[in-house]
Amino acid sequence: MERRSLRVGLGWDVHPLVEGRPLVLGGVRIPYEKGLFGHSDADVLIHALCDALLGAASLGDLGTLFPPSDPRLEGISSVYLLQEVMEEVRKRGWEVISVDSVIIAQGPRLAPHVGEMKQRLAPILGISPEDISIKPKSPEGLGSLGRDEGIGAMVVVLLMRP
Ligand code: MG
Repeated sequence: MERRSLRVGLGWDVHPLVEGRPLVLGGVRIPYEKGLFGHSDADVLIHALCDALLGAASLGDLGTLFPPSDPRLEGISSVYLLQEVMEEVRKRGWEVISVDSVIIAQGPRLAPHVGEMKQRLAPILGISPEDISIKPKSPEGLGSLGRDEGIGAMVVVLLMRP
């Protein structure tokens, strides 16, 4: 019988929306009057994805790998963080099978950008864009996310060790 090792990972993140910052989600610049505030470019989707990958591989979380106190990370693209995380995951023999995700955003309409996000993330993860699901959801005006004060993301990944 063929023996395979499979692991799921869960990631969650939220960042505040402020004026004077670019909005970057899934490595894609989204035209909007506000952007996410954080140490890096504050790409919540990639941060949640990194945490899901690290979780599945039992490697802790993004803050452990990249402490916010590290000045080299100031304004850095989260795509770089994802590349570093994937290197750690691959070193341990894991391959990504699939990604499912939810972006919780009241403000910008994200559906037109989902295809580009998948194209951006797929080669870094070593999978096809069809193996990535990104679902923008409205918080329906409820709570701080509903007041457009921030954007949240949740991600699950499936990893396989052949
Ligand atoms: Mg974050």
